[in-house]
Amino acid sequence: MKSMRYLKDTAILKLDVQKCIGCGNCELVCPHRVFKIIDAKAQIIDHNGCIECGACTTNCPVDAIYVNPDDGCGCATYIVNSWLQKIFSKKRSFLGG
Ligand code: SF4
Ligand code: SF4
Repeated sequence: MKSMRYLKDTAILKLDVQKCIGCGNCELVCPHRVFKIIDAKAQIIDHNGCIECGACTTNCPVDAIYVNPDDGCGCATYIVNSWLQKIFSKKRSFLGG
């Protein structure tokens, strides 16, 4: 997913490493491989890969992750819509529409 990036340094994503119990859920569910378990703790290895989908925070059993998709920046809806617009505009130009 390195080709699909959002605006640099805009994602509101925070990890409280002290709370982390190293279960690996965040690494497993993140669609952009933002987390990696290192020495039995989650680490953010690609902060700019985050699209604020919320999957990590929903699946963290100890509330060690905070992500805010509702504050107007880094909104997943925006980035998904941007991708769809690009895809459909390419299809239209290919079809001559
Ligand atoms: S909010 Fe989504 S994209 Fe961002 S780190 Fe969590 S699972 Fe990954
Ligand atoms: S889901 Fe939470 S507890 Fe599990 S590894 Fe990730 S941050 Fe740590």
